[in-house]
Amino acid sequence: MIEFRGVTKQFPDGTTAVDDLDLVADAGRITVFVGPSGCGKTTSLRMVNRMIEPTWGTILVNGADIMDHDPAELRRGIGYVIQQAGLFPHRTILDNVATVPLLLGWNKKQARERAAELMELVGLAPEMAGRYPAQLSGGQQQRVGVARALAADPPVLLMDEPFSAVDPVVRESLQDELLRLQSELGKTIVFVTHDIDEAIKLGDKVAVFRTGGVLAQYDEPGVLLSRPADDFVDNFVGRDRGYRGLGFLSSDGLPIGELATVSVGDAGPSEGWALVVDGERRPLGWLDGGTQANGAVTAGDLVPGGSLYDTDSGSLRSALDAALSSPSGQGVA
Ligand code: ADP
Ligand code: MG
Repeated sequence: MIEFRGVTKQFPDGTTAVDDLDLVADAGRITVFVGPSGCGKTTSLRMVNRMIEPTWGTILVNGADIMDHDPAELRRGIGYVIQQAGLFPHRTILDNVATVPLLLGWNKKQARERAAELMELVGLAPEMAGRYPAQLSGGQQQRVGVARALAADPPVLLMDEPFSAVDPVVRESLQDELLRLQSELGKTIVFVTHDIDEAIKLGDKVAVFRTGGVLAQYDEPGVLLSRPADDFVDNFVGRDRGYRGLGFLSSDGLPIGELATVSVGDAGPSEGWALVVDGERRPLGWLDGGTQANGAVTAGDLVPGGSLYDTDSGSLRSALDAALSSPSGQGVA
C-alpha cells in the first residue's frame, strides 16, 4: 500500500500544490486521484516515485519510507505511465518493451520473450512487434507504454492521465483492459484523471482534490455519488447524476444532441459541459475558469424559454435541473 502522512508540497515560487495530504492507497486496488486541472494530482503522484520531493510529510510504500530508498532502486518497484507513451521512435515496438528487461540484466533472448508476453498481456497483436511507434495509433502506443511499465513486474503502478489523449471509444476499451489486467495482476495502482466518469469507472476508491491541493473527499465511488462531503464534491461528481446522456429537443421537437463533459480550452485543459451534436462536441458552459463565452449553442436552441447556457456552474446546474423536469428536456440515459 501507499501511505501519505501529512504530505505538503510547496514549490519555490510559493505555490502550494499539495496541502497536508493524508491518504492510504490500498494494496492490490486502484486508487484514483481526480479533480480539476491544477489541483495537485500530478504532484501527489510524482512524490511517490521521488520525481518530486515533499516539502513536509512522509510517504510510505509497502511500509517503507520512500526516503530510505535510493530513487533508482525505488523506481524499479514502481511502474510509471503518462499521457505521452514516450517511446523510442527508432526502435521497434518489441525492442521498446524489451528495453526494460534488458536494463534489468536479462539476456537478449529472455528480454524479447518477456516483451512478447507483455505485448500479449496488454492486448497488442504479435504483428505489431516489428512496427515503429509512428506506425501505431495513440491507443496502441498507450498499450505499449503500459507494457513497458509492467516489464519489471513492479508491485506499484502510477498512471498519470494515461488515456486522456485518446478518443472516447478507444479510451473506453483501454479502461476495460486496465480493469481486466488489474483483476489478473492485482497491482497497487494510483491512477490520475480529471474525468469523473473515468474515476468512477476505474476506482476502487476515489480521492477528489480541489484547487489548492486539498483532499476534499476520499471514498468509494458509490459513496461519492450518494454522499458528497460538500458542495464542491457534489458539483464535481454531480455531472454524473442524470445530466449525461440527457437528450434535448428543439422547440419544434427535433433532437438536438446530448450532454457530455469535455476537457478543452485555449489556455490549457479546462473542464465543462458540451452538447454533442452529430458526434461533434459544442461547448455549452464551463465549470471552472468560468470565463469562456464560446457557446456555439444558445439557450434558445435548447429549451424554449429556458436558459441553459451559462458561464457560472451554479446556474448552469439549476438550468440543467430545470431542463430535466421540463417537457422539452428529455432524459434518454
Ligand atoms: P494537476 O496534475 O492536478 O493538474 P499539478 O500537480 O500539475 O496539478 O499542479 C498543481 C499546482 O502546482 C498547479 O498550480 C501548478 O501550476 C503548480 N505547479 C506544478 N509544478 C510546478 C513547479 N515546478 N513550480 C511551480 N508550480 C508548479
Ligand atoms: Mg496533471
